[in-house]
Amino acid sequence: MSSLVVAIDGTAGSGKSSTSRAVADRLGLRYLDTGAMYRAVTVRMLREGVDVDDPDAVADRAASVDVRVTTDPADPRVFLNGDDVSVEVRSDLVTAAVSAVSAVPAVRELLRRRQRDLIGAGGIVIEGRDIGTVVAPDAGLKIYLTADAEIRARRRAAEMATGQNREVGAVEAALIRRDVHDSTRPTAPLSAASDSVPVDTTYATLDEVVDEIVGLALDRVGVGADG
Ligand code: C5P
Repeated sequence: MSSLVVAIDGTAGSGKSSTSRAVADRLGLRYLDTGAMYRAVTVRMLREGVDVDDPDAVADRAASVDVRVTTDPADPRVFLNGDDVSVEVRSDLVTAAVSAVSAVPAVRELLRRRQRDLIGAGGIVIEGRDIGTVVAPDAGLKIYLTADAEIRARRRAAEMATGQNREVGAVEAALIRRDVHDSTRPTAPLSAASDSVPVDTTYATLDEVVDEIVGLALDRVGVGADG
């Protein structure tokens, strides 16, 4: 188990973060949220007034961005040039701009290198959009999480802090927009690896999904779910 890499990709709001953290916790593995890294780069672009729809400007500024993360599933944090931006990365402004920033090849190359360093010898659950396909194509277990768009939007709207309440239809439209952007970009688009296990979370509870993935992980390393 100490060298296992579990790659969890999927659409926006499919439950990747809660699922991945819980799986890492249950298996005693580290946890890496690659979306938080793309969000941190986006924070930098917004702070510096870079036009995120100008790929050359984004690529240019990305070279000086230093993103670090911690990998404890109980308290994952993300730092931008030394600043803890774990809360800021979740803002609506960042969410609206992140797909444009993450489509820029220079940004992906920079973060992919970091992500591979963090994977190191394994023992990690890593979530994102291109983990099973590009970042960790040799991962021992690959999961592709999906859920019906309306259900994803309902869950996302319910998670939003009070005062941030959104109409479910608007949340759903934003999730779909992000998925389309992420899955149609030329570089490392969101897609299911051919050897990934599809897991549909539409009608499943978090515990059920976590149990299923933990069972698959134990099988992969040759430990039965009972042992
Ligand atoms: O997972 P999360 O919703 O935080 O990801 C934010 C955005 O980061 C995604 O919409 C996508 O544009 C980008 N991303 C990516 N590749 C990854 C992880 C996230 O392009 N591996």
